[in-house]
Amino acid sequence: MLADLVAAGYRQIDVACTKCDRRGRVSVARLLTEYGPDKALPDLRGLIAVGCPRLQSRSITDLCGVMFPTLASAKDSNLPYGKITPLQSE
Ligand SMILES: [Zn+2]
Repeated sequence: MLADLVAAGYRQIDVACTKCDRRGRVSVARLLTEYGPDKALPDLRGLIAVGCPRLQSRSITDLCGVMFPTLASAKDSNLPYGKITPLQSE
């Protein structure tokens, strides 16, 4: 959940989509304000991807693949989300 990110010292996390060109960085503080500390990270992916045309895709292979590369590359992370995977795998 978001509170884990705060506890781990993250101030910003990168967001990227494997299917479209959406890339960005979101402030953890802003996410906290908007969604609260108990929000699960997998849920956040869908929220962050709002606006991606692929999010509504009917084709599973065409679905938006938004993910958190910062967390995916945090090898020393104890977060259960350290190996978060895209919304759907190839
Ligand atoms: Zn996308």
